[in-house]
Amino acid sequence: MSGNTTSAVRRRTEEAGAGTVDAAVVGGGPAGLSAAVYLARYGREVLVFDTGHGRSTHHQVNHNYLGFPDGIATVDLRKLATEQLGRYPEARVVHHQITGIEGSAGDGFTLRAQGHSWRARTVLLATGVLDHFPHFPHWESYVGRSMFWCITCDGYENRGRSILVVGHTDAAAGEAMQLHSLTDRVRLLTNSRSDEISPEFRRRLDSAGIEVVHDRIQEAQGADGVLEAIVTRGGRRLALDALFSIQGATPETLLAGQLGVRLAESGYIAVDSEQKTSVAGVYAAGDVTALHSHQVTTAVHEGAQAASAANYFLYPPELKAD
Ligand SMILES: Cc1cc2nc3c(=O)[nH]c(=O)nc-3n(C[C@H](O)[C@H](O)[C@H](O)COP(=O)(O)OP(=O)(O)OC[C@H]3O[C@@H](n4cnc5c(N)ncnc54)[C@H](O)[C@@H]3O)c2cc1C
Repeated sequence: MSGNTTSAVRRRTEEAGAGTVDAAVVGGGPAGLSAAVYLARYGREVLVFDTGHGRSTHHQVNHNYLGFPDGIATVDLRKLATEQLGRYPEARVVHHQITGIEGSAGDGFTLRAQGHSWRARTVLLATGVLDHFPHFPHWESYVGRSMFWCITCDGYENRGRSILVVGHTDAAAGEAMQLHSLTDRVRLLTNSRSDEISPEFRRRLDSAGIEVVHDRIQEAQGADGVLEAIVTRGGRRLALDALFSIQGATPETLLAGQLGVRLAESGYIAVDSEQKTSVAGVYAAGDVTALHSHQVTTAVHEGAQAASAANYFLYPPELKAD
């Protein structure tokens, strides 16, 4: 790109702060950043809004993301992706929480945050989920270091170790059984007033020799992100190497709701194979689109797919074959 063209594009992008950009991406995790890189490379003006509170902002190291033999900390992956995006004058990251969104593909969309507003021709929702980790003093320092939620992500590194699964449902019982295939030192703590584990799963846990502790967390013992034990309200000290929290997650669908986007029965945003939602000009990508496959690989792929669909949508009719 020549210097003149670069500054023309930059000027266009800056002016777009007051005008209408091609795409607004809400969420600057792997899904949103992937979408933004693709959009910028299509020559689209794109704004990425991010508050930096998602799943990709904890301490975990991704060992299953291709191309990093020693693994890569997700925060470093975000940094690299942000740097990659920074090469494109068409893109800008805005550190604001979008609290309101309205409009349509015909009239354009308006996004609002703390007295500011922006206009965009298309919207990509990559807002992720909110995990329900157990809360105790400094719980956040343990997430991704010795407190996990996903066997696909962190099961391998915890083979043979002492694991406490926390949860009171069949999903928690199932995770305990699956982890038991990687280590024979698994216990389950319900951490709830209720216990919804079905008799069938209770039998399975029993025959696998997995103890179920019906109690709630009083405090955690450990330091520097390394858990040593959970002390229950009933006074038991459960020593552990790792805690797997299976207390669920809530998809961040507030903005989808404001736009009238259809949700699947699971509560996640319903999308087709190109990441289109039920509202024209609105796309979704990453953890917010499905109950399962919450992986960086999936988020990056879906972000790319959503960006390509939005870019195609933005072409004038004479450039489209259909
Ligand atoms: C402990 C842990 C270990 C993990 N290990 C692995 C692993 O080993 N391998 C793997 O592939 N995956 C792993 N994951 C999962 C992986 O991190 C997620 O699948 C991935 O981060 C999803 O990307 P995303 O972009 O959809 O969402 P997120 O990374 O959650 O990003 C969403 C972003 O949207 C922003 N946001 C939300 N709402 C708004 C708003 N209204 N306005 C502005 N910004 C907003 C948030 O601040 C956040 O930055 C792990 C997750 C955790 C928590």
